[in-house]
Amino acid sequence: MTTGVGSTEPEKSGGADLRGAGAGSWEPVIGLEIHVQLKTETKMFCRCRNGFGGEPNSQTCPVCLAFPGALPVPNRRAIEETIKLGLALDCTIAERAVFHRKNYFYPDNPKAYQISQYDEPLCARGHLDVPTEHGVTRIGITRAHLEEDAAKNVHVAASGRIHGATATLVDFNRCGTPLVEIVTEPDIHDAETAKRFLQLLRQTVVELELSDAELEHGSMRFDVNVSVRPAGSDELRTRTELKNMNSFSFAAKGIEREIARQIRIYEDGGVVEQETLHFDPAHEESPPLRSKEEAQDYRYFPEPDLVPVEPGKDLVDRLRATLQVLPGARITRIAETLSFYDADVLVTGGLDRLWTSLVDAGADPKEAANVLANQFVAAGIDPGTVDAGELAKLVSARAEIPRAAFDEALAKVGERGFSADPYLEQKVVADTAELDPIIQRIIDANPAQAEQYRSGKEGLLGFFVGRVMKETGGSADPRVVNERVRALL
Ligand SMILES: [Zn+2]
Repeated sequence: MTTGVGSTEPEKSGGADLRGAGAGSWEPVIGLEIHVQLKTETKMFCRCRNGFGGEPNSQTCPVCLAFPGALPVPNRRAIEETIKLGLALDCTIAERAVFHRKNYFYPDNPKAYQISQYDEPLCARGHLDVPTEHGVTRIGITRAHLEEDAAKNVHVAASGRIHGATATLVDFNRCGTPLVEIVTEPDIHDAETAKRFLQLLRQTVVELELSDAELEHGSMRFDVNVSVRPAGSDELRTRTELKNMNSFSFAAKGIEREIARQIRIYEDGGVVEQETLHFDPAHEESPPLRSKEEAQDYRYFPEPDLVPVEPGKDLVDRLRATLQVLPGARITRIAETLSFYDADVLVTGGLDRLWTSLVDAGADPKEAANVLANQFVAAGIDPGTVDAGELAKLVSARAEIPRAAFDEALAKVGERGFSADPYLEQKVVADTAELDPIIQRIIDANPAQAEQYRSGKEGLLGFFVGRVMKETGGSADPRVVNERVRALL
């Protein structure tokens, strides 16, 4: 085994920069498990309302509270939406999928088993192409299956987290919510790509309207498996699992920290233990949660109360026909015209469709992207309300109309019946014959400031430029005003 350069460098603290920890000789191997709650009207196996935010334990019934004799009835909509996601991830849709019981005891699980899928999942063997600055990285999808969510344990502690809690309350409203679990292949080798994958997957499910995927409400959650191996090797070493991360940047930070920790252990001659770590962004250490269960610990067996799911070809074809061009493909396409950064901002900001319309209406692609990513976002306008033809006119005229007129027009661009024309008639005054008399008048009216400027107080230039802009109602070209004020002083 080679020794990394990191061993000769000073120790880095948590959130370590990989380059300091022997990145040249170690390759991180990262796999992700993502849970997405489907936003169906009702729960997975009963008719209780499926929704966040109700009074605790108000959305329950004998099925989701596991009363003896209550039988599950699967939610057709949830099955269709899982298939749709599977198709978006280029998975093979099973002709026959089976629900299994996953047995475990925990307070959030009243049946003492979860209805999940095991060796015959609904969707398998797909991929998601993740555009990055350096081209597209294809991440394999092992499977996407359907299951029911557990109840919500509310940990009573100052931090609201498991670690350090003194009591736990159970809210069964969430119990039985349809949940899709997506498992990736260990195809990811750095924290940034993991983060980008998660962001792109989130946007995909949101655009498919399957889920709100709100991280802060837990409707999208993810666990990360991390191991490291000597660079160039294809072995899979012991991995640890990071659980309960509720933001993409925490995930990236947690991954980097865990990679650095494992490298340190190996370089010190130690052994990485298989364990589940609870990531707490407030602390440098990730405390161990519990040792990781193996599949056999769950004693999976087919759910005797449900028949297999057998989606017909007609259904799969109908769902496939509803798919639009997905966000990853749109980033890649726009990055042919703009930089990757701009393409990413447009697509992840939900602005790319409007951008395409602006370009189709004759706006310059780069200029349109700048206006959308900056002034448009700052003005907080809903892209769906905008007449692209009118906005395109504004974008194209931006350099020729006064800044004040542009800002005013942009603020109104989402209003019904908005017309850019009155604003386009206001031209920037760049004509020195028109500006010089105004500038001279202002200089004459402020002799003290003019004298101070001439004796070296150059900051006063702004004072005069500001007066001129005010006098002209913002219509003067600031570049020309600057130049002429300087000359006339
Ligand atoms: Zn129920």
